[in-house]
Amino acid sequence: MSTNQTTTNDEEEEEIVTCSELLEQIDDEEAELDRERALYGNCDTDTCTYSQGYVQRQALFVCMTCYNNGNGQLAGICAACAFHCHSNHEINELYTRRFFRCDCGNSKLSHQPCKLYPNKDPTNTANKYDDNFRGLYCTCKRPYPDKESPTADDSMIQCMICEDWFHSQHLGVPLPMEENEADQLDMICQACIMKYPFLIHYDESRTITSPPVENNAAASNSPACLLISNNSNDSKELHTIFLRDGWRKRLCCCVQCRKLYDDSNLTVVFNDDDAIQEYEKQALAKSENLDADKILTDSLQKLDHVKKLEVLHGINEFKKSLSDFLRDKANGDGILTANDVTTFFAELQEKRKEQKRTIFVPPDNCKS
Ligand SMILES: [Zn+2]
Ligand SMILES: [Zn+2]
Ligand SMILES: [Zn+2]
Ligand SMILES: [Zn+2]
Ligand SMILES: [Zn+2]
Ligand SMILES: [Zn+2]
Repeated sequence: MSTNQTTTNDEEEEEIVTCSELLEQIDDEEAELDRERALYGNCDTDTCTYSQGYVQRQALFVCMTCYNNGNGQLAGICAACAFHCHSNHEINELYTRRFFRCDCGNSKLSHQPCKLYPNKDPTNTANKYDDNFRGLYCTCKRPYPDKESPTADDSMIQCMICEDWFHSQHLGVPLPMEENEADQLDMICQACIMKYPFLIHYDESRTITSPPVENNAAASNSPACLLISNNSNDSKELHTIFLRDGWRKRLCCCVQCRKLYDDSNLTVVFNDDDAIQEYEKQALAKSENLDADKILTDSLQKLDHVKKLEVLHGINEFKKSLSDFLRDKANGDGILTANDVTTFFAELQEKRKEQKRTIFVPPDNCKS
């Protein structure tokens, strides 16, 4: 760097960002955007889901402001209500939940009327509420994010059955994969295994590195019960289990087992279309074609500088421009200053002003 630069401003030294740091940051942003699309691509941010009844699976939120002001009434709200009816409140994201009907403005949240669907029944009697609705998660009953957590990374895993969230260190068993790969696995928590002990037979923790055998009773003409033929797990203690993609297809479907699922109210959970992967696939497909103009006017002002630019340009365009920019820089001294970055963003913004992009913007409150 030339010494001239420091003489222009003695007090303020320019912050230096390396090319790889910046690229890493952009990859993180892109992954976050994909995650938000997978989760919220199915959300209609202007229509309360109440009229759909108990929705098979939807992104669900808890308003902690209303919980704290409402004598601790447990309630869950849909994405549109989080966005429109509780916009300046503190919102907790519960990821997705099954068979829940929006409580916004009903007897549990009566001090905060619903702007989208005001005349709800007083309660939704089939809704199930757990400690997540008080802002507490896992067997340790801690908030998320946990300001008192001793570890910086407190990522959590959701149980496929009870839908509570767990710290990996509180599952009672080690993760069968690296922490960052764990989201490719489904998990059923120990409490659910104790409730439905037959599920221990389906633990795939040991087979994570080699594909599970597909000689399922489902494929056979005369289905024999897998639980009887596979009694190697009989002496096993009941612990958290992990399942690989497609595990629903590997469950025994003999007459006795199907009755067991029915009696345990697990039939819907074991349906293929209950898979979270299916929900995300649909969400990603839907969010490809959302009309950005309308969403932009609502949301753009609330987004920070970098996010705005991503939204305006689309992440792919953005990356292309950036790689051109970085190539130019690499041919120079290879060092990026804060000023370089500001100039880059300003030029990019100018270039794209007339272009209309279609990219999904999650509601402001939908951010974790
Ligand atoms: Zn709603
Ligand atoms: Zn609220
Ligand atoms: Zn509402
Ligand atoms: Zn915990
Ligand atoms: Zn569970
Ligand atoms: Zn069976």
